[in-house]
Amino acid sequence: MHTPLAYLRRRLGELPCDDALRAYQQWWETTGRGLSEAVDRAGTPWLRQWNRFGERVDEILMPEGYSTLVQEGYRLGVVGRVIEQNDWQSSFALGYLTSYYDAGLYCPHTVSLATAVSLHKYGSPVLKERYLSQMLRRDGEAWQGATWMTESGGGSDLGANVKTSAVPDGDTYKLTGEKYFCSHVNAELAVVAARPQGAPEGVRGLALFLVPRYREDGSLNYFIRRIKDKIGTRAVVTGEVDLQESLGYLLGSAEIGIYLILEVLNLSRVANSVGSVALLQRAIDEAESFARRRIAFGKPLIEHPLMRTQFARWRATLDAAFALAWEAVRLLAEVSALTPPYTPRYHLFRLITHLAKYWTAEQAVQAAKWCMEVHGGAGVLAEFGVERLLREAMVLPIWEGGSHRQMLDALEVMQRRGAHHLLLEHLAPCADPTELQAWRERLDTYLQQPPEAQEAELETLIPSLAEWVGKTLSANDAPATRL
Ligand SMILES: Cc1cc2nc3c(=O)[nH]c(=O)nc-3n(C[C@H](O)[C@H](O)[C@H](O)COP(=O)(O)OP(=O)(O)OC[C@H]3O[C@@H](n4cnc5c(N)ncnc54)[C@H](O)[C@@H]3O)c2cc1C
Repeated sequence: MHTPLAYLRRRLGELPCDDALRAYQQWWETTGRGLSEAVDRAGTPWLRQWNRFGERVDEILMPEGYSTLVQEGYRLGVVGRVIEQNDWQSSFALGYLTSYYDAGLYCPHTVSLATAVSLHKYGSPVLKERYLSQMLRRDGEAWQGATWMTESGGGSDLGANVKTSAVPDGDTYKLTGEKYFCSHVNAELAVVAARPQGAPEGVRGLALFLVPRYREDGSLNYFIRRIKDKIGTRAVVTGEVDLQESLGYLLGSAEIGIYLILEVLNLSRVANSVGSVALLQRAIDEAESFARRRIAFGKPLIEHPLMRTQFARWRATLDAAFALAWEAVRLLAEVSALTPPYTPRYHLFRLITHLAKYWTAEQAVQAAKWCMEVHGGAGVLAEFGVERLLREAMVLPIWEGGSHRQMLDALEVMQRRGAHHLLLEHLAPCADPTELQAWRERLDTYLQQPPEAQEAELETLIPSLAEWVGKTLSANDAPATRL
């Protein structure tokens, strides 16, 4: 039987958190699956903005069991293992299991981890004492985080579109503005991009703030305007938020704020890659379990040559996607303590992360669509849950910076930092020398074109580069097992 844990073990060997992974998989099979299906079926949750006394409360009414569903990951250490033991691999392995069963649920865990990491790395001792300890609770009451950058003008071009202002108020700031896409809007804490008063235009003027949901007197620190009605990812509540002189604590220094924002996004992109691969595995497993039993033309679907070829291709894609995503995990673990200005290793991490985020998400969508096709008509019926995979997958290439953004950012880090040289050096011990040389020449030629042509033709380069990197790592598996 294919399970996410069996696949992780095959690719990574036994992990330090093996007991927790076993327990988590068992919990999903006995409890989590049912809760997750109930949350998906319930659809968009309600926002109760006022209580019966006419006071603003902004409560989100989730289906019963939601808290258990989301807290199990924290109990097993999806955040704690990174902050307390610097054990990134175990956290992402837990994320792999989460995403196999409910790709949307990995969002709360990821944004909580990104919040905790920013706080741990850039928060003052007072802030850490007050908030980080709450986030590390494993008693089912862990405080959760969120990461809000996007405003209604658009998420790709943050420099032009973040209008939220931050006005100094003693040691803290007052934030005013609106955030248009606020995932995990029910979290206790959020890290928020805003422009301090007097800061320059563009991305260089942005800074990162920690914003608690409640003020110390218990009143709301910001207001939830509405909940988004989404096609999927219902295990994470996405809303719109009004910040009205909301209390914010500056993380790090304002001068390097954009780098802190990008660190948050890059962590989430790694998680998105891991989650995409897990969804890809789930799609193949679901397709296989159907194809083994469904008979057409006298034999199970899986025994038909055309179907067999498709399964073999998807299994190979899964291995390449996993290798690419896990290389991003491994490099993130290595560079996570670095601060700007970064080393070349950080630029290598960025390039691999952009390739991984782009390619794994695209493959997850295609795999989910193919899984529906393998199921024939049953694939589109909501009662069997197969269509849910596609609903969950559709957001993976969009949030945390869309596929265009990933391709453009991969290009930028090659142009400005020569990250393609670092990548080729990195792969040299395991790559086929002829392929390596061919890529060296191809990349050098590509990067000599006029800038506009480089951008215009990115789709001729990035998908094949990402696939080659994934396949090279997968064939060798050496970098991944170095962890
Ligand atoms: C369910 C959901 C939850 C989300 N949660 C959060 C959250 O918690 N926090 C948060 O900050 N954001 C969140 N987002 C926002 C998400 O990050 C953005 O949707 C994404 O970054 C794209 O921004 P946009 O939607 O404004 O599209 P736009 O920036 O308007 O882009 C529109 C299209 O143009 C493309 N594009 C942009 N620039 C270029 C270019 N130079 N060349 C070619 N193409 C380009 C984009 O890739 C996209 O396809 C969420 C989004 C969704 C759907």
